[in-house]
Amino acid sequence: MTTSTEGPTAPAQLSITRTEPESPLTDVMGGASRLEIKVHEHGFIALVDAMPRLVPEGQTADSAIVQAARVSYGQGTKKVSEDRGLIRYLMRHRHTTPFEMIEFKFHVAMPIFVARQWIRHRTANVNEYSARYSIVPDRFYHPALDAVRKQSPSNRQGGEEPFDLDAPDQAATAQDYLDYLDHVESQYARYTSLMDRGVSRELARAGLPVSAYTEWYWKCDLHNILRFLSLRMDAHAQKEIRDYADAMCALIEPIVPISVEAFRDYELGSVRLTRLEVEAIRELKLSTAAAATGRGEIDSDNTREQREWGEKRKRLGL
Ligand SMILES: Cc1cc2nc3c(=O)[nH]c(=O)nc-3n(C[C@H](O)[C@H](O)[C@H](O)COP(=O)(O)OP(=O)(O)OC[C@H]3O[C@@H](n4cnc5c(N)ncnc54)[C@H](O)[C@@H]3O)c2cc1C
Repeated sequence: MTTSTEGPTAPAQLSITRTEPESPLTDVMGGASRLEIKVHEHGFIALVDAMPRLVPEGQTADSAIVQAARVSYGQGTKKVSEDRGLIRYLMRHRHTTPFEMIEFKFHVAMPIFVARQWIRHRTANVNEYSARYSIVPDRFYHPALDAVRKQSPSNRQGGEEPFDLDAPDQAATAQDYLDYLDHVESQYARYTSLMDRGVSRELARAGLPVSAYTEWYWKCDLHNILRFLSLRMDAHAQKEIRDYADAMCALIEPIVPISVEAFRDYELGSVRLTRLEVEAIRELKLSTAAAATGRGEIDSDNTREQREWGEKRKRLGL
């Protein structure tokens, strides 16, 4: 048997060096414990914490991105305008890790059908209300009559136009939809009654609809929040989750204004082109006659891809 002098030892006396900030620090949430936006009748999204929470006076939390990036690029000038240029460069070139240095924690109340879409964003840390432990509150998603949407004819996954309430048959269908949602009232009464008679909460909840509200704390870094926002603020996302994404963006924008500006410029407002689309544009540019004769189409017989190219052409003014 060999013995070693290495191995667990009692910790040495550790000394902590304290560094005072060069300038006074300010709270990025302005001293608030919670910044909340109501969403729909019963929902909300509230920003409850941020990292960094304290930043040098006159700066925004964007400074944490610059601080991290400068580890790779070395010390540069610290002028705000140059910080903005660096953040925009990082965003354009998808140098993403510095954006992970910022984190936001939200408290959210949303219908379960929204939560199901939201939870797919796996990079967040989540703690959800337990319907095994607690009784589901009497809160259900219920849009206004003029917000009831028809099925989109072109997008199987989406609703589009609202029903025309001036057309009697359409108004009746929209009203019938709301009546169908209202059935939840009697279902909720049965839910509570069954629990009163001893049925467990974990089983009783199985009869509740996905319009019931759940709540969670959701913490995520800025890189993945921006990814969430780019998917969920997009017109292809369901309107109900889009409303939460818009509110989330409004909450973080004053705290990381440079990042959100860069996100709007280089991600949200951008158009991603496929190789086929680049070739189609090249064809259009080579010959102005091509545009007149309707050429400049992509070399694909996939109708969905052609429709997407049509939408991009419109945005590009081609
Ligand atoms: C309009 C729309 C329609 C959708 N329709 C459907 C649908 O019909 N059915 C369906 O199932 N989903 C659907 N989704 C969900 C979608 O497929 C994604 O699951 C969701 O948008 C989360 O995206 P994400 O994976 O990029 O996000 P996150 O989970 O936050 O991940 C961010 C990135 O981190 C990395 N990452 C995360 N986890 C891992 C891991 N375990 N291993 C390796 N890398 C990881 C990946 O690079 C990933 O892109 C839809 C989403 C949208 C926006």
